Amino acid sequence: MKRPGKILICYLLAAACILSGVQTTTDSAAVAAYGGRAVLKKKKIAIDAGHQLHANHKMEAVGPGSSVKKPKVTGGASGAATGTPEYRLNLKIAKRLQKILLARGYEVYMVRSTNNVNLSNKQRALRANRSGADIYIRIHADSSVSSSARGASMLYPSKSNRYVKRLSAPSKRLSKCILKQYCKKTGFQSRGLIKRDDLTGTNWSKIPVTLIEMGFLSNRSEDRKMQKKKVQAKMAKGIADGIDAYFGY
Ligand SMILES: [Zn+2]
Repeated sequence: MKRPGKILICYLLAAACILSGVQTTTDSAAVAAYGGRAVLKKKKIAIDAGHQLHANHKMEAVGPGSSVKKPKVTGGASGAATGTPEYRLNLKIAKRLQKILLARGYEVYMVRSTNNVNLSNKQRALRANRSGADIYIRIHADSSVSSSARGASMLYPSKSNRYVKRLSAPSKRLSKCILKQYCKKTGFQSRGLIKRDDLTGTNWSKIPVTLIEMGFLSNRSEDRKMQKKKVQAKMAKGIADGIDAYFGY
Protein backbone atom coordinates (compact mmCIF):
# COMPACT_ATOMS: atom_id res chain seq x y z
CA MET A 1 0.00 0.00 0.00
CA LYS A 2 2.90 2.35 0.66
CA ARG A 3 4.44 2.10 -2.81
CA PRO A 4 1.37 3.08 -4.88
CA GLY A 5 0.86 6.05 -2.55
CA LYS A 6 4.38 7.30 -3.21
CA ILE A 7 4.03 6.76 -6.94
CA LEU A 8 0.77 8.70 -6.96
CA ILE A 9 2.43 11.61 -5.15
CA CYS A 10 5.28 11.56 -7.68
CA TYR A 11 2.78 11.66 -10.53
CA LEU A 12 0.94 14.55 -8.96
CA LEU A 13 4.18 16.49 -8.39
CA ALA A 14 5.34 15.84 -11.95
CA ALA A 15 1.98 16.99 -13.32
CA ALA A 16 2.15 20.15 -11.20
CA CYS A 17 5.69 20.86 -12.44
CA ILE A 18 4.69 20.39 -16.07
CA LEU A 19 1.61 22.56 -15.67
CA SER A 20 3.49 25.36 -13.96
CA GLY A 21 6.23 25.07 -16.59
CA VAL A 22 3.73 25.43 -19.40
CA GLN A 23 2.13 28.36 -17.62
CA THR A 24 5.47 30.15 -17.22
CA THR A 25 6.40 29.62 -20.85
CA THR A 26 3.08 30.98 -22.06
CA ASP A 27 3.36 33.96 -19.74
CA SER A 28 6.84 34.95 -20.75
CA ALA A 29 6.11 34.51 -24.42
CA ALA A 30 3.09 36.72 -24.72
CA VAL A 31 1.88 38.41 -21.60
CA ALA A 32 3.01 39.78 -18.32
CA ALA A 33 0.64 39.66 -15.39
CA TYR A 34 0.18 42.88 -13.53
CA GLY A 35 -2.38 43.54 -10.81
CA GLY A 36 -4.30 40.44 -11.82
CA ARG A 37 -4.69 41.40 -15.46
CA ALA A 38 -2.76 40.33 -18.51
CA VAL A 39 -1.01 42.95 -20.60
CA LEU A 40 1.15 42.64 -23.70
CA LYS A 41 4.72 41.95 -22.75
CA LYS A 42 7.21 44.65 -23.74
CA LYS A 43 10.93 45.33 -23.41
CA LYS A 44 13.02 45.38 -20.24
CA ILE A 45 13.98 48.75 -18.79
CA ALA A 46 16.79 49.34 -16.29
CA ILE A 47 16.21 52.36 -14.07
CA ASP A 48 18.83 54.00 -11.89
CA ALA A 49 17.76 56.59 -9.34
CA GLY A 50 20.88 58.75 -9.23
CA HIS A 51 22.95 59.26 -6.05
CA GLN A 52 22.35 57.77 -2.59
CA LEU A 53 22.11 58.68 1.11
CA HIS A 54 25.88 59.06 1.52
CA ALA A 55 28.31 60.11 -1.21
CA ASN A 56 31.34 57.90 -1.89
CA HIS A 57 34.34 59.99 -2.92
CA LYS A 58 36.67 57.05 -3.61
CA MET A 59 37.73 57.11 -7.24
CA GLU A 60 36.89 54.85 -10.18
CA ALA A 61 37.67 54.85 -13.94
CA VAL A 62 35.25 56.95 -16.04
CA GLY A 63 35.12 54.22 -18.68
CA PRO A 64 36.51 50.78 -19.56
CA GLY A 65 40.33 50.97 -19.81
CA SER A 66 40.45 54.64 -18.82
CA SER A 67 43.14 56.14 -16.62
CA VAL A 68 40.87 59.13 -15.95
CA LYS A 69 39.07 58.75 -12.66
CA LYS A 70 36.09 60.39 -10.96
CA PRO A 71 34.44 59.95 -7.55
CA LYS A 72 32.32 56.78 -7.33
CA VAL A 73 29.12 58.65 -6.49
CA THR A 74 28.65 62.30 -5.57
CA GLY A 75 26.19 63.78 -3.09
CA GLY A 76 23.84 65.29 -5.65
CA ALA A 77 21.77 68.47 -5.43
CA SER A 78 19.27 69.55 -2.81
CA GLY A 79 16.10 71.60 -3.04
CA ALA A 80 16.63 75.35 -2.63
CA ALA A 81 13.15 75.79 -1.17
CA THR A 82 12.29 72.42 0.34
CA GLY A 83 15.74 71.07 1.20
CA THR A 84 14.79 67.74 -0.41
CA PRO A 85 17.93 65.79 -1.32
CA GLU A 86 18.20 64.79 -4.96
CA TYR A 87 18.67 61.09 -4.18
CA ARG A 88 15.24 61.02 -2.52
CA LEU A 89 13.41 62.77 -5.37
CA ASN A 90 15.20 60.57 -7.93
CA LEU A 91 14.05 57.38 -6.18
CA LYS A 92 10.47 58.65 -5.86
CA ILE A 93 10.24 59.26 -9.59
CA ALA A 94 12.06 56.00 -10.37
CA LYS A 95 9.52 54.04 -8.31
CA ARG A 96 6.59 55.83 -9.94
CA LEU A 97 8.11 55.10 -13.34
CA GLN A 98 8.59 51.44 -12.38
CA LYS A 99 4.87 51.14 -11.51
CA ILE A 100 3.74 52.76 -14.75
CA LEU A 101 6.06 50.63 -16.89
CA LEU A 102 5.00 47.39 -15.18
CA ALA A 103 1.36 48.32 -15.72
CA ARG A 104 2.12 48.86 -19.41
CA GLY A 105 3.70 45.41 -19.71
CA TYR A 106 7.40 46.27 -19.51
CA GLU A 107 9.86 44.34 -17.40
CA VAL A 108 11.73 46.63 -15.05
CA TYR A 109 15.07 46.31 -13.33
CA MET A 110 15.68 48.76 -10.48
CA VAL A 111 19.35 49.44 -9.84
CA ARG A 112 18.40 50.61 -6.36
CA SER A 113 15.12 50.55 -4.41
CA THR A 114 16.26 52.20 -1.19
CA ASN A 115 18.28 55.33 -0.42
CA ASN A 116 20.79 53.72 1.93
CA VAL A 117 22.95 51.89 -0.61
CA ASN A 118 26.60 52.09 -1.59
CA LEU A 119 26.70 51.74 -5.37
CA SER A 120 29.17 53.56 -7.58
CA ASN A 121 28.13 54.87 -10.99
CA LYS A 122 30.22 52.13 -12.62
CA GLN A 123 28.61 49.42 -10.48
CA ARG A 124 25.18 50.77 -11.40
CA ALA A 125 25.94 50.51 -15.12
CA LEU A 126 27.31 46.98 -14.69
CA ARG A 127 24.14 46.01 -12.84
CA ALA A 128 22.03 47.44 -15.67
CA ASN A 129 24.14 45.52 -18.23
CA ARG A 130 23.80 42.26 -16.31
CA SER A 131 20.04 42.70 -15.86
CA GLY A 132 19.40 41.90 -19.51
CA ALA A 133 17.61 45.22 -19.98
CA ASP A 134 17.21 46.77 -23.44
CA ILE A 135 17.77 50.37 -22.33
CA TYR A 136 19.17 52.16 -19.31
CA ILE A 137 17.45 55.23 -17.84
CA ARG A 138 19.36 57.35 -15.31
CA ILE A 139 17.14 59.62 -13.23
CA HIS A 140 18.62 62.90 -11.92
CA ALA A 141 17.71 66.47 -11.02
CA ASP A 142 19.78 69.50 -11.92
CA SER A 143 21.44 72.29 -9.98
CA SER A 144 23.02 75.60 -10.94
CA VAL A 145 24.63 78.62 -9.31
CA SER A 146 22.03 80.64 -11.20
CA SER A 147 18.82 80.35 -9.17
CA SER A 148 16.74 81.20 -12.25
CA ALA A 149 17.99 78.24 -14.32
CA ARG A 150 15.07 75.90 -15.00
CA GLY A 151 13.88 73.12 -17.24
CA ALA A 152 14.77 69.60 -18.25
CA SER A 153 17.61 68.20 -20.36
CA MET A 154 18.83 64.80 -21.47
CA LEU A 155 22.50 63.77 -21.45
CA TYR A 156 23.69 61.19 -23.97
CA PRO A 157 27.07 59.93 -25.28
CA SER A 158 28.41 61.57 -28.45
CA LYS A 159 29.54 59.80 -31.64
CA SER A 160 33.14 60.41 -30.64
CA ASN A 161 32.75 58.91 -27.17
CA ARG A 162 35.78 56.66 -26.57
CA TYR A 163 33.80 53.95 -24.81
CA VAL A 164 30.27 53.79 -26.17
CA LYS A 165 30.29 55.49 -29.59
CA ARG A 166 28.10 52.71 -31.03
CA LEU A 167 25.45 53.60 -28.45
CA SER A 168 25.38 57.27 -29.45
CA ALA A 169 22.67 57.15 -32.12
CA PRO A 170 20.11 55.02 -30.25
CA SER A 171 20.88 56.89 -27.00
CA LYS A 172 20.27 60.21 -28.74
CA ARG A 173 16.97 58.98 -30.16
CA LEU A 174 15.93 57.66 -26.75
CA SER A 175 16.84 61.01 -25.18
CA LYS A 176 14.86 62.90 -27.79
CA CYS A 177 11.75 60.73 -27.31
CA ILE A 178 11.81 61.09 -23.54
CA LEU A 179 12.53 64.83 -23.48
CA LYS A 180 9.68 65.56 -25.86
CA GLN A 181 7.09 63.56 -23.92
CA TYR A 182 8.41 64.68 -20.53
CA CYS A 183 8.16 68.38 -21.36
CA LYS A 184 4.77 67.88 -23.01
CA LYS A 185 3.39 66.15 -19.92
CA THR A 186 4.94 68.40 -17.24
CA GLY A 187 4.99 71.73 -19.06
CA PHE A 188 8.65 72.08 -18.04
CA GLN A 189 10.95 74.02 -20.35
CA SER A 190 13.12 71.91 -22.63
CA ARG A 191 16.84 72.68 -22.41
CA GLY A 192 17.57 70.20 -25.15
CA LEU A 193 19.82 67.21 -25.70
CA ILE A 194 23.35 67.51 -24.35
CA LYS A 195 26.35 65.40 -25.41
CA ARG A 196 28.33 64.19 -22.40
CA ASP A 197 31.29 61.84 -22.63
CA ASP A 198 32.55 62.24 -19.07
CA LEU A 199 29.78 60.36 -17.29
CA THR A 200 30.99 57.13 -15.68
CA GLY A 201 27.51 55.60 -15.44
CA THR A 202 26.98 56.20 -19.15
CA ASN A 203 30.44 55.14 -20.35
CA TRP A 204 30.23 51.70 -18.70
CA SER A 205 26.84 50.96 -20.22
CA LYS A 206 26.46 48.32 -22.93
CA ILE A 207 22.88 49.28 -23.81
CA PRO A 208 21.39 52.56 -25.10
CA VAL A 209 21.56 54.94 -22.20
CA THR A 210 20.25 58.35 -21.26
CA LEU A 211 20.38 60.56 -18.20
CA ILE A 212 17.42 62.83 -17.56
CA GLU A 213 17.91 66.03 -15.61
CA MET A 214 14.26 66.41 -14.63
CA GLY A 215 14.40 70.02 -13.48
CA PHE A 216 16.42 72.37 -11.27
CA LEU A 217 16.40 71.77 -7.53
CA SER A 218 18.36 75.03 -7.24
CA ASN A 219 15.33 76.89 -8.62
CA ARG A 220 12.96 77.49 -5.69
CA SER A 221 9.78 77.30 -7.73
CA GLU A 222 10.85 74.26 -9.76
CA ASP A 223 11.98 72.54 -6.56
CA ARG A 224 8.54 73.10 -4.98
CA LYS A 225 6.81 71.89 -8.15
CA MET A 226 8.85 68.67 -8.32
CA GLN A 227 7.91 67.74 -4.74
CA LYS A 228 4.19 67.79 -5.54
CA LYS A 229 2.64 64.35 -5.99
CA LYS A 230 0.53 65.52 -8.94
CA VAL A 231 3.59 66.85 -10.74
CA GLN A 232 5.61 63.73 -9.88
CA ALA A 233 2.91 61.60 -11.50
CA LYS A 234 3.25 63.68 -14.66
CA MET A 235 7.04 63.50 -14.59
CA ALA A 236 6.99 59.70 -14.40
CA LYS A 237 4.26 59.40 -17.00
CA GLY A 238 6.15 61.69 -19.38
CA ILE A 239 9.27 59.49 -19.13
CA ALA A 240 7.16 56.36 -19.68
CA ASP A 241 5.48 57.95 -22.72
CA GLY A 242 8.93 58.72 -24.12
CA ILE A 243 9.98 55.09 -23.66
CA ASP A 244 6.80 53.97 -25.45
CA ALA A 245 7.63 56.37 -28.29
CA TYR A 246 11.21 55.06 -28.54
CA PHE A 247 10.02 51.47 -28.95
CA GLY A 248 7.07 52.47 -31.12
CA TYR A 249 4.39 51.04 -28.79
ZN1 LIG B 1 22.40 64.08 -10.06
